[in-house]
Amino acid sequence: WRANFSVIQKETGFVNGLITVLHDITEQEKIDMERREFVSNVSHELRTPLTTMRSYLEALTEGAWQNKEIAPHFLHVTQTETERMIRLVTDLLQLSHMDSREYEINADIVDFNRFFNSIIDRFEMAKSKNVEFIRLLPSVSYYVEIDTDKITQVIDNIISNALKYSPDGGNIRFGMKANDGILTVMISDDGMGIPKDNVDRIFDRFYRVDRARARSMGGTGLGLAISREMIVAHGGKIWAESEEGVGTTIFFTLPYEEDEAGEWD
Ligand code: ADP
Repeated sequence: WRANFSVIQKETGFVNGLITVLHDITEQEKIDMERREFVSNVSHELRTPLTTMRSYLEALTEGAWQNKEIAPHFLHVTQTETERMIRLVTDLLQLSHMDSREYEINADIVDFNRFFNSIIDRFEMAKSKNVEFIRLLPSVSYYVEIDTDKITQVIDNIISNALKYSPDGGNIRFGMKANDGILTVMISDDGMGIPKDNVDRIFDRFYRVDRARARSMGGTGLGLAISREMIVAHGGKIWAESEEGVGTTIFFTLPYEEDEAGEWD
């Protein structure tokens, strides 16, 4: 805390008032520190693919382009790194847009069961891993007012992570619970889990339990940070429960319209 004191004096010279302005500098310092850390993270995340690309391009220029075995591999690496940078910049632009005040959500009223099922269907059709999807969803419709593009992105991100970290032959369970106007959605895997002390940090920008491993899977470390912003913008919360070697469950909540809940046909 830092205090500025102003003394109010009358013409007589007697002090008869004191104004104290307290600035919460710890909060300001925290914001400044986070900003510096963010800029440093962004620089590092961009520098890594750029230096990789430079060395591969140098090798190609110095003659590797003539080698039919090596050249396609080197070109593939530069392409992968370019794609990673595009994903990173797209995510950063999205975060910066959400940080600005003009961030808007275009909400529609949707039947959440139907909406959730159609996303799960899409992943079930496309999955290349031997992972079983188990739906533990109620047969009652719950209507939520959401920006469907944004909540699709949140759910896509959680399911992609669950798939990424699931072992071969594992299960991903989808659940949903409604209570007092709040819908709680659960996506659970039996993957490697997250160390206890780090569970809450996975929603921080650029936080990854295992940086090298997450990078090799193509992640930017921003997916869950973006998801958190989106859920908060909808008046909900997002959190994780996890046990190392057992699995991870991601929960998020959304307010629902209680009087519109009805039997699901
Ligand atoms: P990334 O692009 O690295 O996937 P996210 O923001 O989506 O970024 O996730 C942040 C980190 O949280 C991941 O790098 C991973 O370490 C951890 N994580 C997220 N979901 C899971 C999960 N289902 N199981 C284990 N770890 C997870």
